[in-house]
Amino acid sequence: MTKCHIVQDLLPSYLDGLVSAETETDIRQHLQDCDACRALHAKLSAPIENTSSQSDKKEIDFLKKVRKKTIQKMLAGFTALLLLVAALTYFLAIGSPVSKKDLIYTTSVDGDQWRINMELTNGKALLVRTESIYGEENSSGVKPIVGVLLKPYQVLPSPLLEGDNNSFMFGSTINSFTKSDYKIILRLGNDDVIFTSDNYDKQKP
Ligand SMILES: [Zn+2]
Repeated sequence: MTKCHIVQDLLPSYLDGLVSAETETDIRQHLQDCDACRALHAKLSAPIENTSSQSDKKEIDFLKKVRKKTIQKMLAGFTALLLLVAALTYFLAIGSPVSKKDLIYTTSVDGDQWRINMELTNGKALLVRTESIYGEENSSGVKPIVGVLLKPYQVLPSPLLEGDNNSFMFGSTINSFTKSDYKIILRLGNDDVIFTSDNYDKQKP
């Protein structure tokens, strides 16, 4: 009678068909008689695909989770970056409208030139956006430009802005004011200061 430990040592080779025909016969017979070795044989010859595929699946699930987390992290990072860019753009480039209390403006006339000098006093940088003001459409369907709207904005001072960045000068010809209805509007918060042919040279503190 073959001893169990010999059979058990040989089982892997037996399963791989690497034992001699005689040994194979001995082992087969032993397996018929011995519960313990048969149990081990059954265990060793059971398809291992299930367990391995399960662990594969677990590994894939794990990778998926890792990837999902990575994507979530990347999205969070991307969102944070977008917000940062948006905030920087807002504070450095777009800005907020300047209120009346933070802006000093003076007007001056030099030859045929009219000028308005603006200075922002709250430590921020001044950006002035200009828009044309259009009049009534004429018979040919053209809307004439009848003025300029000046909209001062405050942004954070930054190296992006050149030079003296808390002041701004806007110039126009006095001739502009003699045209009918021509005006220059300085918009400060909700207040408009309107310069027309009647009052273009008056100084305002
Ligand atoms: Zn045995």
